Amino acid sequence: MSDVAFVDSHCHLDRLNLDAHNGDFDAMMAATAEAGVSHMLCIGVDLETFPDVQALAEQHDHVYASVGVHPLYKESREPQVSELVERASHPKVVAIGETGLDYFNAKEQREWQQRYFIAHIQAARETGLPLVIHTRGAKDDTLALLREYGQGQVRGVLHCFTEDLDMAQQAIDMGFYISISGIITFRNAETLRDTVKALPLERLLIETDSPWLAPVPFRGKPNEPRYVAQVAECVAQLKVSTWLNWRALPVTISLPSSTRRNHESEFDAGAGRPWWRSLCGAAGAADGASS
Ligand SMILES: [Zn+2]
Ligand SMILES: [Zn+2]
Repeated sequence: MSDVAFVDSHCHLDRLNLDAHNGDFDAMMAATAEAGVSHMLCIGVDLETFPDVQALAEQHDHVYASVGVHPLYKESREPQVSELVERASHPKVVAIGETGLDYFNAKEQREWQQRYFIAHIQAARETGLPLVIHTRGAKDDTLALLREYGQGQVRGVLHCFTEDLDMAQQAIDMGFYISISGIITFRNAETLRDTVKALPLERLLIETDSPWLAPVPFRGKPNEPRYVAQVAECVAQLKVSTWLNWRALPVTISLPSSTRRNHESEFDAGAGRPWWRSLCGAAGAADGASS
């Protein structure tokens, strides 16, 4: 096993295609560990299947869960703030989402997307948990709703980020992290690579969003958390060329810590420290000997 520890900050473990492992979930998890992935955040997309997500987090120490309704899952039961808060009280639930606005894929559905998004923002405020936000083609409304309903009190991550540098910087100014998926490895993602080069390393996270969006050289195949290593490598190469030197490799990019007050989970142990760190080189030295 690698001595590098990656965290997949966004995957859908309950939806993976396990054909490469003959349908054996445990074999997939073993391959994930072999690739150096130490933790995974398994993301909920609707309330109906949330019990599956929660069960995976209960069964595996290094898997955590989020609860929410994805902006393209219109058929899901509407999330009430009280239900999100209630489900988020589970000790392995460390985030609210995924939620957000996707006008790119569903531009006729702004009204309910906004209503659901506002409920998630309110639940994040109430619980103190980070928000996992999916945003596509909805820059102005995403930022405006976060400001209006978050009141400076919500933090979180813009996941699978593909929007512009200005949006990333505005979100970072609000205390958010930007999570980079396998899209960063795609040949036509030059603009995104330029954006990543311009963003501060300590505000970046990595993810697979598996089973979708497998990075090069697995593009087109079912994605798995183990491929977060390819995302890390790509991000590291972009950042090394601009910010660090080669000694800063290999990298570790960690999951956002839960900011839940009065609750010590494994992720909370990392709260307040940079979420990205390297095992050697400048960034690692600044972060001390954390695991
Ligand atoms: Zn998403
Ligand atoms: Zn997702």
